[in-house]
Amino acid sequence: MTDLLAPQSSPTQERRLVTEIPGPRSRELMARRSATVSAGVGTTLPVFVERAGGGVVVDVDGNSLIDLGAGIAVVNVGNAAPRVVAAVQEQVASFTHTCFMVTPYEGYVAVCEELARVTPGDHEKRSALFNSGSEAVENAVKIARVATNRSAVIVFDHAYHGRTNLTMALTAKNMPYKNGFGPFAPEVYRVPMSYPFRDADGFSGAEAAARAIRQIETQVGAANVAAVLVEPIQGEGGFVVPAPGFLPAVAEWCSRAGAVFIADEVQTGFCRTGDWFASEHEGVVPDLITLAKGMAGGLPLAAVTGRAELMDAVHTGGLGGTYGGNPLACAAALASIETMRELDLAGAARAIGDTMLPRLRALQARFPTIGDIRGRGAMIAIELVKPGTTEPDPALTAAVASHCHAQGVVVLTAGTFGNVLRFLPPLVIGPDLLSEALDVLDAAFAAVS
Ligand SMILES: *Cc1c(COP(=O)(O)O)cnc(C)c1O
Repeated sequence: MTDLLAPQSSPTQERRLVTEIPGPRSRELMARRSATVSAGVGTTLPVFVERAGGGVVVDVDGNSLIDLGAGIAVVNVGNAAPRVVAAVQEQVASFTHTCFMVTPYEGYVAVCEELARVTPGDHEKRSALFNSGSEAVENAVKIARVATNRSAVIVFDHAYHGRTNLTMALTAKNMPYKNGFGPFAPEVYRVPMSYPFRDADGFSGAEAAARAIRQIETQVGAANVAAVLVEPIQGEGGFVVPAPGFLPAVAEWCSRAGAVFIADEVQTGFCRTGDWFASEHEGVVPDLITLAKGMAGGLPLAAVTGRAELMDAVHTGGLGGTYGGNPLACAAALASIETMRELDLAGAARAIGDTMLPRLRALQARFPTIGDIRGRGAMIAIELVKPGTTEPDPALTAAVASHCHAQGVVVLTAGTFGNVLRFLPPLVIGPDLLSEALDVLDAAFAAVS
């Protein structure tokens, strides 16, 4: 157990600043970056990484930062997790690629077997593997359209589903994801989300679902809907947790309307929210589920898993891709899933939430700019507003984030209005480190308020 959590190669689990942030070597590398990497690729925190593990990221100047981002909910099992490293090392020495569609290999099949076990529902399932979350979402839509012989896809306000052409159409926020990149794919219709902080007081999940369904039925027509696509807790949109009852009501409508209910669990999946998948919290069983980020300990792997009759409705050769289900990524996924089971990382995520929520509530009592605290497990966010209103305060959000960065804590922002601070620590972060990160956040609020 101990050696799995703190392998010899893992960096010392501490916050340690030995230069200003960013330090001189990182600044040098940033200058090289600017001269050669497209300006279209952004940077949250301009420190270049040398190694990372557990709850820390160590930069090229020797600074050790506390990681509350996990590479955007990817390294749930920790960076360079021991089992993942060993599995990938073994695989890389045997073969690196054959293309599963040309000559298959066991790892791909074993990953699909695991996905059938860990995803919600005990129906017959099939999976297909891809390289990115966007690609998984695109393929889920392709599968739903073929299976239903319908074309309309329903998505929600604040949704994020990726950056490819179809997934840009599915994503809500214009800047930076869509601006100037159109025209976008047709037959995508957006309806209101359940957003308790911004909906009227007491507006229930059932009422929010009825509002969305009314719009679908009047503006699209139930018989035209191939799929309803929803993040059970929205990610980039600001960790919006729909009111209880919303997701079950939407799923129920889908089954009556003959539409495919797709849960995009790319960010919420793999123990992040304290369950294997966020859909489980309300007992929702999606027809299709899209997976990526937390799946393979940092190697690029994504999946669509779902009902066999939908997944098998596609003609042979209709799904795939050169790299989809790469053998190294499959080995990493199997090792990650084993680590999640062995270390009970769903329980670890719940413990992280149990530590963070009371601390954040205490902070909110002192700083009325914290309008809302929400999330589940190790997917927690705070929404910053002008005190006593719901008016977003993106400037304050940016100031708190950059103060945390300067003090050696990696935090990310999110939200349609850019006013959400989100926390996504690796699920193996130690309690002392997490507590120290919250001290830094506290000091950041004190400094900027
Ligand atoms: C990140 C994300 C995606 C896109 O995944 P990529 O691997 O970046 O293409 C899709 N859906 C959700 C919910 C995400 O968080």
